[in-house]
Amino acid sequence: MTGAIHNIAGNFHVPTPENEPVNDYRPGSPEAESLALEIKRIGGTTASIPLSIGGEVFETADTQPVVSPHDHARVLGQLSKADPSHVRTAIDSALAARHDWSRRPWWDRVSVFLRAAELVTGKYRDEINAATMLNQSKTYHQAEIDGACELADLLRFNAHWAEGIYANQPKSTQGENNYLDQRGLEGFVLAVTPFNFTNIAGNLPATAAMMGNTVVWKPAEKSALSTDVVRRIFDEAGLPPGVINTVHGDGKLVSDIALADPNLAGLAFTGSTQVFRQLWKKVASHIDDYKTYPRLVGETGGKNAVVAHVSADPQALITGLTRGAFEFQGQKCSAASRAYIPRSLWNKIKEPLAAQIDSLVVGDVAEHRTFLGAVIDETAHDRLTGAIDKAKSLDSHTLIAGGTTNKETGYFVRPTVFETTDPTAFTLTTEFFGPLLTVFVYEDNDWIETLKVADKTSPYGLTASVYATDRTAINQALDVLRDASGYVAINDKPAGMSIGKQQFAGSRASGTNDKIGSPLALQRWVSGRFVKENLNPDTDYRYPYLGA
Ligand code: NAD
Repeated sequence: MTGAIHNIAGNFHVPTPENEPVNDYRPGSPEAESLALEIKRIGGTTASIPLSIGGEVFETADTQPVVSPHDHARVLGQLSKADPSHVRTAIDSALAARHDWSRRPWWDRVSVFLRAAELVTGKYRDEINAATMLNQSKTYHQAEIDGACELADLLRFNAHWAEGIYANQPKSTQGENNYLDQRGLEGFVLAVTPFNFTNIAGNLPATAAMMGNTVVWKPAEKSALSTDVVRRIFDEAGLPPGVINTVHGDGKLVSDIALADPNLAGLAFTGSTQVFRQLWKKVASHIDDYKTYPRLVGETGGKNAVVAHVSADPQALITGLTRGAFEFQGQKCSAASRAYIPRSLWNKIKEPLAAQIDSLVVGDVAEHRTFLGAVIDETAHDRLTGAIDKAKSLDSHTLIAGGTTNKETGYFVRPTVFETTDPTAFTLTTEFFGPLLTVFVYEDNDWIETLKVADKTSPYGLTASVYATDRTAINQALDVLRDASGYVAINDKPAGMSIGKQQFAGSRASGTNDKIGSPLALQRWVSGRFVKENLNPDTDYRYPYLGA
């Protein structure tokens, strides 16, 4: 047995985490100049994006280009695609690394990720932000809050929550010691991550690994340049070989093999509802083959509502809708995509809202004036173009702002707002994952009825916003919308949670609600074993009641 090093006589306290301060990137500021240089450097090269299995980093013959969505002729990298043999080797490497990794002291494991957080916010801050800007088309601000700040926050807060989980021990009494042994799961964890957040991509494998698991990680191919920076940071931080094995390529190919393996111990997924359901069904079809019941954690789609009361502050609502629906092109799971606004308020805000939205600059994210970059790829562009064209053709929809798309240089979709008279319209029920907001205007007196409609209209339950100054109305909204979301903002946009303060995840068709960046999420990746040590064992089988 190697690696079970208990060579420190003392416990370790994780530093109390603080949210990483967000840089402003004002034009001309030192941080903006430094990041601009890095954008130039990364944008001018075509990186190799390799597989990393059992500590071996290598390219494959089968590659796929990774491009910049706002300039799709620019090939940022060539991703090496895994074939079935790579997936099997990745599973074997994870299983081989499990014994030692799961027996390391927890502080030894979390220290790797605390070091990674320092690299994210220090040495690699520009690189991870530049990659996130170029690869996912995020602005300076959006890249900074995702790539640098939230990833570091997740790593630091999770290390802190991990300490709390291990500290939570049962009562011992005189003559009897009791322990709770929080074991990593028996087997390996498959982490399948989405394109839209660099931090989610890094966090899913890291969370499972922190708690003593070993992982096969399938990052989204569309954002592989950014996730490769994360992979290199974990390596530089000292992650042992085999703990996180990165296999790029076809999600179905990778998951078909990994989910059929009897050693599957868990699935950590973030992405669309449709794919998660497919993966869940696949797990169900193999249930007789597994050595243990796999833990299934999935954070999926959303159709997040902003519900405004007649007492709402009009300017706060305009700002919340603009930021909530259109930052990062509406490609946040938590983005606002439907709004319910009373007629008198709508009459006040319709024109200024439309004017503001039509003034937003869509373009190259390296330019400071840009508010929206491009959507992630041609499929997304065409999906949004189709939805906008269909809405334009319906009598029930009126175009309020935007409504045009263009994919010549980049996959651009103007921020678009429709007003609809149909409370069951497809634009109020379907997730399009882009800069498309639909407003249903209700009569001022129909507040409670409208809350009920907002609750029942979509199958999702991720985030919501309530705009009101009347406290009775706020309380009514919190009550009627109780099951409608896993996060609700009052007088704020539904997107933009902060680790340690508000955690994200939702229920209904939005996922298993395991609250990423919280103790709950870590708890899913341990399997407890209680140990009782009797310090004074009985030596006579007879109990007093026997009268002996
Ligand atoms: P996606 O479902 O297309 O892809 C997610 C991952 O699954 C990727 O790694 C992809 O390669 C893989 N994949 C795709 N098809 C697969 C298949 N058939 N079998 C196995 N794996 C497959 O999602 P996306 O486009 O990357 O991300 C957008 C979606 O993610 C949106 O629906 C959004 O709401 C959701 N999302 C949710 C949260 C949340 O916390 N609830 C956070 C981020 C994104």
